[in-house]
Amino acid sequence: MVQSILKERESSIIEAGSEHAVGCAVKNKDLVCNQGSAAGAVSQKACVFCGARVVLNPITDAFHIIHGPIGCSSYTWDIRGSLSSGSELYRHSFSTDMQETDIIFGGEKKLAQAIDEAVATYSPKLIFVYATCIVGVIGDDVEAVCRQAEQRHVARNGGMGLRVIPVMAPGFSGHKAIGYKLAGDAIMRFIGTKPYPRNKAHGINILGDFNLAGETWIVRSYLENLRIEVLGSLTGDSSSESLLCAREARLNVVQCAGSSINLAEKMQDILGIPYIRVSFYGIEDTVDSIMRIAQTLAAQTPGADMRGLVSRAEQFCLRESKRLNDALEPYRTRLVGNRAAIYVGGGFKAISLIRQFRELDMDTVMVGTQTGRPEDYEVIRALVSPGCIVLDDANPAELEKFMVEKGADILVGGVKERPLAYKLGVAFCDHNHERKYPLAGFVGVENFAQEINRSVNSPVWRYANKRQS
Ligand code: SF4
Repeated sequence: MVQSILKERESSIIEAGSEHAVGCAVKNKDLVCNQGSAAGAVSQKACVFCGARVVLNPITDAFHIIHGPIGCSSYTWDIRGSLSSGSELYRHSFSTDMQETDIIFGGEKKLAQAIDEAVATYSPKLIFVYATCIVGVIGDDVEAVCRQAEQRHVARNGGMGLRVIPVMAPGFSGHKAIGYKLAGDAIMRFIGTKPYPRNKAHGINILGDFNLAGETWIVRSYLENLRIEVLGSLTGDSSSESLLCAREARLNVVQCAGSSINLAEKMQDILGIPYIRVSFYGIEDTVDSIMRIAQTLAAQTPGADMRGLVSRAEQFCLRESKRLNDALEPYRTRLVGNRAAIYVGGGFKAISLIRQFRELDMDTVMVGTQTGRPEDYEVIRALVSPGCIVLDDANPAELEKFMVEKGADILVGGVKERPLAYKLGVAFCDHNHERKYPLAGFVGVENFAQEINRSVNSPVWRYANKRQS
């Protein structure tokens, strides 16, 4: 058990209700976040390449070539299960499998061959080529290889050509959030920077939703029932065609800001599409998000139809929240007083989860994120009860320390946090890419309550040898 935390990490950990960083007498009201990980701390954050891959992978008809050693390719669809209603091409994972000779003499020829082989076998319209750590070290000119490949295959796809987009993402060149930004840049490079006519009266894009367990379809169905057209979902269940349609939208709604805020900002600045941040987790945030989408569209194009949109949204949200408040009552009885720990990717999800636990009469005693921004942490600190530990870019030792100290009954996290919870004899809820049931939207509220109840109240914890602080 680690009793203390690294000095370099002190200003990224705060106890709510205090103005001091944990373990530090100096006042530090602002939590340090959105930076590179401290040397010596085994961050839960993935590398730059993984950040880029997670955002681009759900483009279902794109082909992904990982230029590097085979180990980098272990990061496949199987551990990031976004669903598709069309092409299944994205589920393949291809690597140039760089060997010692490639590293000594350069891997450009091998990459060019890999692109040609992919084109001959699968005829994709869009290929992403990821440069990994070793490519960053040896300096292959991946840009040139991709450009030449586009020129070689210019006549393909009925004369539409082939796009081969390099993603220069050596893992060591920053942290996961840099990979998110690179992915956004790659999408902009594909869809182009020319402003597009807004032909749709109220067409929107959903950004930062990966269609895990079909969640994009659920949110899409709510919006389409309200007669809001969803032009593109970037990048869950998207295709090269739907990415191009996304240019026509009047509004971008950003679900996972960590992964997509840079893209949203670029689309606003370059294409003139405004954005709002939303969250479809929990009753409160789902209602708030649907209403803000309806109100923003109504304000953009006033008229009778738009006034109707707001009132349709109100009625729908009222009906669903009443139904769910009744449905949650039995879960509240079984969960009241339990303590939750949260460690997730982005700040907006963490905020929604704190609210969602409140809806279940549970208190949050530890909350952290990998890529939260200062404005997210301000909201988090205002939401949680005094004494709750708020931490950015945590490592396993810190998570363990604070979960034990605060007596957490359940940890919500992803695949990397799961073994930590089980080792401590604490219940776990997967709220990341491995989840099998949708947790978004009104449907997700009930699934979440069910999962938390099953996990927290499982008899197995009676036999767990709980660690003491
Ligand atoms: S850190 Fe480097 S070597 Fe490791 S997975 Fe990322 S790109 Fe590959």
